[in-house]
Amino acid sequence: MDEPQSTRSVATLKGVGPRIAERLKKVGIKEVQDLLFHLPLRYQDRTRVMPIGSVRHGMQVVVQGEIELSQIKFGRRRSLLCRISDGTGALTLRFFHFSAAQQKNLIKGLRILCFGEIRNGPTTLEMVHPEYQVVVEDQALQMEEALTPVYPTTEGLHQISLRKLTDQALSLLSGDLLLDYLSQTDFDFVSNWSLSEAIQFVHRPPPDASTEKLMEGIHPAQQRLAFEELLAHQLSKRISRQAFKENKAPSLQAKGLLRKKLLSSLPFDPTAAQNRVVGEILSDLICEEPMSRLVQGDVGSGKTLVAAMASLQAIEAGYQVAIMAPTELLAEQHLLTFRQWLEPLKISIIWISGKLKAAEKKQALEDLASTDQCVVIGTHALFQQDVVFKKLGLSIVDEQHRFGVHQRLALREKGNINGLTAHQLIMTATPIPRTLAMTAYADLDVSIIDELPPGRQVVTTTVIPEQRRDEVISRIASVCKEGRQVYWVCTLIEESETLQCQTATETANRLAENLDEVSVGLIHGRLKKEEKDRVMQAFHAGEIDLLVATTVIEVGVDVPNASLMIIENAERLGLAQLHQLRGRVGRGSRQSDCVLMYKPPLSDHGRKRLAIMRETSDGFQISQKDLELRGPGEFLGTRQAGIMRFRIADLMRDKALFPDVEKAAQQIMQSKTEIIEPLIHRWMVHGTDYADV
Ligand code: ADP
Ligand code: MG
Repeated sequence: MDEPQSTRSVATLKGVGPRIAERLKKVGIKEVQDLLFHLPLRYQDRTRVMPIGSVRHGMQVVVQGEIELSQIKFGRRRSLLCRISDGTGALTLRFFHFSAAQQKNLIKGLRILCFGEIRNGPTTLEMVHPEYQVVVEDQALQMEEALTPVYPTTEGLHQISLRKLTDQALSLLSGDLLLDYLSQTDFDFVSNWSLSEAIQFVHRPPPDASTEKLMEGIHPAQQRLAFEELLAHQLSKRISRQAFKENKAPSLQAKGLLRKKLLSSLPFDPTAAQNRVVGEILSDLICEEPMSRLVQGDVGSGKTLVAAMASLQAIEAGYQVAIMAPTELLAEQHLLTFRQWLEPLKISIIWISGKLKAAEKKQALEDLASTDQCVVIGTHALFQQDVVFKKLGLSIVDEQHRFGVHQRLALREKGNINGLTAHQLIMTATPIPRTLAMTAYADLDVSIIDELPPGRQVVTTTVIPEQRRDEVISRIASVCKEGRQVYWVCTLIEESETLQCQTATETANRLAENLDEVSVGLIHGRLKKEEKDRVMQAFHAGEIDLLVATTVIEVGVDVPNASLMIIENAERLGLAQLHQLRGRVGRGSRQSDCVLMYKPPLSDHGRKRLAIMRETSDGFQISQKDLELRGPGEFLGTRQAGIMRFRIADLMRDKALFPDVEKAAQQIMQSKTEIIEPLIHRWMVHGTDYADV
């Protein structure tokens, strides 16, 4: 199947020279067809003048009014302010940059028509740097007939150019040159809209189209395209999964003696959920098809034991295991646990970190290249070129949401030895709601540890303003007197690690001054490894009562005697992150508490979020709420947002389409395979998303 017109290069269009072609490439446009699928991000409504009294923060609108007052304001920045009114209300136009001519022209009594985004200003509603034109008496207003599309763009590529180019691409459409792959199928769930009708409609909505529906993205034309886009993503994941499964993996056969030994050395029995998940993993490991399994388990559900049991299967079968963690701290903790659990079984454990000295690293690499049966633990240092496995049978990625897709794939590559592909196990404590999991992880099998070890207490969570800090401090004193241990987590909105560490240091000093009888420790990302080790060991051993930390302790740190956690500026963190942090307490049998301290005033949104934390301890529920409040991009983290970049679909808004997308993908994989490649080609950003899956 070929598409002669639509796959031709954009360079053949009018107005596309080398410079524009370069910029178009930046936004993923190379072929004429790419322009057709470069869909508006949103629309502006320039079809009507809105009464000022009816506009609200965030709306992009056209308003018309008479200037009542015009003045220069000297503040932090000099600005020109014009108050306009139309009888229904008033609003302020604010210009930070303005010419002398503008200042002279924009005077009291002048009627102007403005377009811009409404914002809540210091005293009134405002428009900052609106587009505007003077209204001439007796002359009909020049309004647009239809909604104005706003395209995703890049520097130096104007909306107007994009509109002109899409106009050209759309005129080619009229010759029916765009293949409608779905119309060639017999799905009843594809709407009445043909592909070209839908494309034409979303690029250039006609004047009588439903503005509300279009603005919300729920018009049938948009949904027709969203369906096809979700389908393309789904297909690409399935294809990638299929391709991975076609590799040959070592069949890891073992009697389970090592597992038995480990279990008999532990002071507890695995939960039923742990046993079930281990069973699911083992039945994958004995196959010659590589495993690609995600284990989701709430904070504290005991994923490390599951990882250890899987590792022992590989080792008993004569293979190496690689365990990768997203932070040094977590990797080190795994190192401690695995040493404690596996060294009595005479299994060697190799440590690879970016911070190893040259000689240590050389030794570690030699060990790795010469030891058949071993566990290697490390951070993403494990991806490095010089790390060569001798006989990797299983790779385990912990807390995978912290890694990019590329890193996951890089480890997959590493696992290719002598034509055999290592099995892959991925673990996460950020449960992905089912709806999202289907799309985000269609290339993985999923196991869920849906049970916590017995005797765990629900952490009691309170939310208090930071003014009550003194109360909190005296509570720490009494808690420590009882022999309990405490975390104090400092958060900062700034990304700067230096600043975070500085804040944590100051906080630790102040707390130490206020708490005579309490021994205060400090841990943050800037400490040397030995120093971090020393602090963590001292905390483990109970020599430190109060550990002040940055969010480095978010993942995995395990000190069961710690039963109180204070989180400063809790309102700034995502719910999933708060849940992770809170999971550091409540690990022993003791009743544990978490204090979420916030800086007033709390926004409505902030209040809701903290209330969820207070009322819920179930990671799945929290992540569902988090997803609803923040949207999938933020939810999955910036690194993963790449795979979730959609042109028109929206995972929250369009969830109702998922079941049909699933069904369609299945049917196409079975009986319509020839349309898979062109559908993926059309929808995925070339060279980025496609490579990601
Ligand atoms: P996570 O799933 O958050 O990674 P961990 O693997 O760190 O959880 O386990 C949390 C704690 O629970 C550890 O101290 C671990 O030894 C303990 N643990 C794991 N499984 C069980 C079990 N079945 N019964 C009791 N404690 C367990
Ligand atoms: Mg863990």
